[in-house]
Amino acid sequence: LHFDVKVRPAITQDAGYVVVAFEDKTDLQEASQMRRDFVANVSHELRTPLTALLGFIETLLGPAANDTDARKRFLSIMDNEAKRMNRIVGDLLSLSRVEADRRVRPRDPVNVPSIVRSVVQTLQPLAGARNVSLRLEGADAEDRILGDQDQLTQVFTNLIENAIKYGPNGGEVSICITSHAVEPTMQGPAVRVDIADQGEGIPVHHIPRLTERFYRVDAHRSREMGGTGLGLAIVKHILNRHRGRLRIESHAGNGSCFSVILPYE
Ligand code: ADP
Repeated sequence: LHFDVKVRPAITQDAGYVVVAFEDKTDLQEASQMRRDFVANVSHELRTPLTALLGFIETLLGPAANDTDARKRFLSIMDNEAKRMNRIVGDLLSLSRVEADRRVRPRDPVNVPSIVRSVVQTLQPLAGARNVSLRLEGADAEDRILGDQDQLTQVFTNLIENAIKYGPNGGEVSICITSHAVEPTMQGPAVRVDIADQGEGIPVHHIPRLTERFYRVDAHRSREMGGTGLGLAIVKHILNRHRGRLRIESHAGNGSCFSVILPYE
């Protein structure tokens, strides 16, 4: 994995939002410290479910060998822990793939509203399970940029999934697409996708760090929701490759809005 990106966010606290700009400011020493931290973090994240698995295996081989009830319960916990490890490894592989081609500009014409529509459709069951309604606006027109279809699908999946997970049960997630948006942080016009939820919001001092690998505001909540802490890091790297931006606006108690801003050229 590559470690050259240190986020230098432009914090505009009064407005209650942070634009995460992707400027490379990392020197060699810092890069090797980041690499060490990352290896330590990965080991820790994998060791937690692994330790649980080893404990249950030992119990099933020993004291609970003939206990049918315990076996059922333990196997279901082990299943969850193994799935968690699988998600972490899957996300790490995604991250490393995105980083491997970070210098290659994506060149395929892709239609952003149609990507968003299909992600919304895929996530309907997850939203339904939490009684969350997904409201989609501005997705009828065609809006083409040069991009990578699979990677942009992953960006919108991660962000809409987060909005569903961190919003309240029974709430609403609104997804709004704006064509030819004029953005202060971009040189030319851009297509903007705003994903807003009705969750608790994120205290502003956390916002600049959200796209760091394994950074979570509430680690317990994230794990409970099946999170790996890598989703926004993946989003950052994909948008970086598309010369795009991620804007995060949040007010405590008032929900969060994650905006993806993608230039046409
Ligand atoms: P995770 O797998 O933990 O969801 P992410 O990288 O996707 O990892 O997000 C990092 C952290 O950012 C989350 O753990 C959560 O604390 C915070 N976060 C992300 N999206 C939202 C949201 N819509 N509302 C509140 N907090 C969020």
